[in-house]
Amino acid sequence: MARFTKIQWCDSTTNPVQGCGGCELRNAVASMCYAGALTDRYGKSNPGFADQFERPELKPGKMAEAARWPDLSDKSRNRVLKADGRVSREAKPWLSGLPRHIFVSDMGDALTEKGFAHFNGKPVTDKTLFRFLREEVIDVVTSSNGLRHQWLWLTKRPQRLHAFAAYAIGQETWPANLWVGTSVTSKASLSRVDSLCKFRGKEVTKFVSAEPLWEQVSLKKHLKKLHWVIIGGESGRKRKSAPFDCAWAESLIEECQRAHLPVFVKQIGGNPLHHGDDIDVSSSHGDVMSEWPKTIRLRQMPVSRVRYPQSC
Ligand code: SF4
Repeated sequence: MARFTKIQWCDSTTNPVQGCGGCELRNAVASMCYAGALTDRYGKSNPGFADQFERPELKPGKMAEAARWPDLSDKSRNRVLKADGRVSREAKPWLSGLPRHIFVSDMGDALTEKGFAHFNGKPVTDKTLFRFLREEVIDVVTSSNGLRHQWLWLTKRPQRLHAFAAYAIGQETWPANLWVGTSVTSKASLSRVDSLCKFRGKEVTKFVSAEPLWEQVSLKKHLKKLHWVIIGGESGRKRKSAPFDCAWAESLIEECQRAHLPVFVKQIGGNPLHHGDDIDVSSSHGDVMSEWPKTIRLRQMPVSRVRYPQSC
């Protein structure tokens, strides 16, 4: 978990579960999953990680700890700095005046299906996992501390959200300050968006992170059921990452704008192109906006439909 993060669309990160059963970003050839790569490097016997990435661990208390962090909806708090001064909310003006945005599950996938390390000495079944997530996620985001923040839960297993919600809240309303999102990399992963769109009703804010995008995709048929789209290219060593053509971002932006949907271009990656021509970038993330084609310099946040309590 991190109270300060460089991820542009949020302030902080936390993980009720660390580790994951994998996806297309993690395979035997190379890991483009930064959570997996970091866990491989630092995880062993480090309480901040799972011992082994493919052996996910339930981490009680992380959500509650994040819930206690100060509210940021007062603009005067934008100056809050990390001790070394590298991360400031002032660098993220699109968040100004909004509650603290906390990314849930940047170091794993909390809805992963299997392979868990034992919890309290016992194997982890779906029931164990769902009970744990109800207490750690639902109970925390709806607590007086949790209600001060905006939580953004990202999963590559949105089909599991349906069973989890049925178990955890039944017919009750999904917490309005808990947005749910899924990630896509290519046309082959668009079925995740189908599944996300079927999750509950319009009262749930849903977003798609199209990052790292490996080819042009269209979200046109989904946009009526979505509230926000994030776009990004693959980070890594310059010119060694998968190519990202900014024309793909232009196309998605156009779709979103036609549907009046906010869109957030996070980065263009380490190997960006524009209509096939190389673009020079100074960082391996391609996150310096002034280096992008003007047509894609866009970072918009969804309008929150929640009235947050005042900070305490
Ligand atoms: S689902 Fe997320 S955490 Fe799991 S391997 Fe893929 S990118 Fe990594």
